[in-house]
Amino acid sequence: MAFAGSWPLAAWLLAFVQGLLPVVLAPVRVSPGCVPSPPQPRYKSWHDTACGSTPILARTLTSVSRPAPIPGPNSDAGGLAVFCDFDGTFSQRDVGATLAGEYLSRARADLQKRFADGELSAWEYAVELFDGFDFGPEPLEAFLAGIELDVGARGLLSWCEERGIAFRILSDGFDYNLERLQAIHGVRFAYAANHLVFDSGRWRISPGGLNPECDCGTGTCKRAMIEAYRRDHPGAFCVHIGDGAVSDLCGARVADRVFAKGSLEESLRTQGVACEHFDDLSGVRRALEGAFPGDPPAGGPGRRASGDFRS
Ligand SMILES: [Mg+2]
Ligand SMILES: [Zn+2]
Repeated sequence: MAFAGSWPLAAWLLAFVQGLLPVVLAPVRVSPGCVPSPPQPRYKSWHDTACGSTPILARTLTSVSRPAPIPGPNSDAGGLAVFCDFDGTFSQRDVGATLAGEYLSRARADLQKRFADGELSAWEYAVELFDGFDFGPEPLEAFLAGIELDVGARGLLSWCEERGIAFRILSDGFDYNLERLQAIHGVRFAYAANHLVFDSGRWRISPGGLNPECDCGTGTCKRAMIEAYRRDHPGAFCVHIGDGAVSDLCGARVADRVFAKGSLEESLRTQGVACEHFDDLSGVRRALEGAFPGDPPAGGPGRRASGDFRS
């Protein structure tokens, strides 16, 4: 999706929200010294960082679901692992935001206000917007056929595969769409995302990894995914690439190196978190190539990477 500097920051961040499913509110937890005074929004809005990363209000229910194991990067790669947002980063347009803009614009306008007011978490926003969405596989397929990959997406993917570098898409979008887009574009990648199935042509969505310990409120907490990888691969150098302050911010905060654009870059710079701007993924590949030089392993492209990174 496009960005325009004239838009208020809140509007941009809202535009990035896409999401997923039913949420059960946990009891309100208030951190010491950070007591909000009533009236309070039910949820901490994205721009409310007065209490740092400590959740003022806990949301949800299910525990964090750990991603499927990713093979560790080989020694030649220096323990590098690349985590990449999908919508607006690996793809040129944001699938959920574009769909909502075209087919759910009236509902979205109301939900964006509730989200901005802190009344809804990112995941609740997604549930309100998409659960029950009457948009079956056939029209969805036609829509997805118009979603193009970033010009550098294939190059970055190939560069990682050829060197045995762990690469994983982290998306607060939906697995169904990622599967179809892989088939449409003839690429394969490991991913973590929310879940989408159809019930009589209507969307039924569920979260891929809610994390009550994180204030992102998304269905697939990227911070949790990166931290889980680190636990399984001590010493890994984790890179996060993204464009959205809602779903990418928590992942960027725990990454060793961050490539950012859009509202993610704006938020990180506002918060004084180091990041590097990128225009497309070709620039990210060139930067990583400079930092992690080395020829592909002998035996030809993909030999050592094999198909191990498939999800
Ligand atoms: Mg994005
Ligand atoms: Zn998070």
